[in-house]
Amino acid sequence: MRYVSTRGLTPPQSFKDVLLAGLAPDGGLFVPEEYPQYHEGTIDTMRGLNYTQAAQIILADFIDDIPTVELNKIIARTYTPNMAPHLKWLDEDLALLALSNGPTLSFKDQALQLLGRLMEYVLREKDEKLNILGATSGDTGSAAEYAYRGREGMQVFMLSPYGRMSRFQQQQMYSLNDPSIHNLVVDGNFDDCQAIVKAVNADACFKEKHRIGAVNSINWARIAAQVVYWAYASLQATKKPGDVIDVSVPSGNFGNALSAYIAKRMGFPIRNIIVATNENDVLHEFFRYGFYRIRAGDDVKITSSPSMDIASASNFERLMFDCVDRDAYRLRLLLDTLQLIGRFVMSDKSQSLDGFCSGSATDEEVIRTIRTVYTGYGATIDPHTAVGMKVAFDYQYTHTDVPLIVAETAHPAKFADTIREALEVEPPIPKGYEMFGTLPEHITRVPADPAVIKQYIMEHV
Ligand SMILES: *Cc1c(COP(=O)(O)O)cnc(C)c1O
Repeated sequence: MRYVSTRGLTPPQSFKDVLLAGLAPDGGLFVPEEYPQYHEGTIDTMRGLNYTQAAQIILADFIDDIPTVELNKIIARTYTPNMAPHLKWLDEDLALLALSNGPTLSFKDQALQLLGRLMEYVLREKDEKLNILGATSGDTGSAAEYAYRGREGMQVFMLSPYGRMSRFQQQQMYSLNDPSIHNLVVDGNFDDCQAIVKAVNADACFKEKHRIGAVNSINWARIAAQVVYWAYASLQATKKPGDVIDVSVPSGNFGNALSAYIAKRMGFPIRNIIVATNENDVLHEFFRYGFYRIRAGDDVKITSSPSMDIASASNFERLMFDCVDRDAYRLRLLLDTLQLIGRFVMSDKSQSLDGFCSGSATDEEVIRTIRTVYTGYGATIDPHTAVGMKVAFDYQYTHTDVPLIVAETAHPAKFADTIREALEVEPPIPKGYEMFGTLPEHITRVPADPAVIKQYIMEHV
């Protein structure tokens, strides 16, 4: 499998190159030259597979430059029975796809736990080191730290905004006491953290010398890992050839919904993909009206689903690439327009958009949905999942013919304040997390100054 850049100015690369590079050198995103194709007969034989088996088959299509035995071992170690995604049926045609059983209780573990192991393998093989520099507003930082800690050849420098994350999220990251993990707590907001990462990365010399890498939502390997659980969900929720499912995906940077789209393009029985946003509805606007308009940083609303508070959706370019029939020149024109006037219009209705629909939810609707799901089904869902559920309920007014699967993207324990507000009870605390709130924290407070961060990195690599 070769990977090409959406901007068309990078020669095709292998999986291992794409894994370590993240962003393509031309600024584009890597996508497979072609999506692997599964035929109805093959899919029928895959229905009985467990999660690990399905992952081993599907990921082998995307990762053909790591020996199968090694890859299979890595996959089996990652997706233990506790961690592996599974369906939780609420009634006969509505289910949650449980994705938040990894160590940091958000769906990001599903991809990052695999990435940590893959990167360790490739770095060892190349005898190289990698220092991950990232910024987080909550879920990504902890998922990355738990994925990379203790991995040979890797260190993590994670910037987070002082006092802006939930108590649980802070404890999760800051309680880690590991020499390879550096929690740099910035006097500033998330934008300041991101600006620092950008400034450090802009210094190509520094970046090269200290082997600075990124953990971001655009790494192709993350998408590949996420394709697996959508394929698996479609296998589990259908019985025979011809059966299909609809899915609802709480969305921010569009990685999760894109993964469902790719599973569908590969032939897995997914019909409609419902893109659910909070009030930061860049994506909903696009799927409804056909224009893509990015927001100014100040226009991003702070909601109860912070991991979906985005100004633009970084994975969206991959879908756009298919929409312009993979013509990189046309894509670059659209991106130029976006740069100039902050928006572009998709003129022709592309077939790639078939089956996409969308909706959005306000914080108030999130609260009401958490209540409805609790009283109606006895399930406690987190505010991100509630966005997906609210939009799914709206959708069900007109579509009830096939099973509807809603992605559960975080565990409610992570967002206790919202759960308390909605239900007036404490969210269930999963085993092993009872101590959160009382653990000692290991952080370094830093000013929002790239020079200070660079100095810190130099002293610690
Ligand atoms: C990151 C995140 C999302 C958004 O996922 P995207 O792939 O960026 O669309 C939704 N919910 C939770 C809990 C998240 O952490």
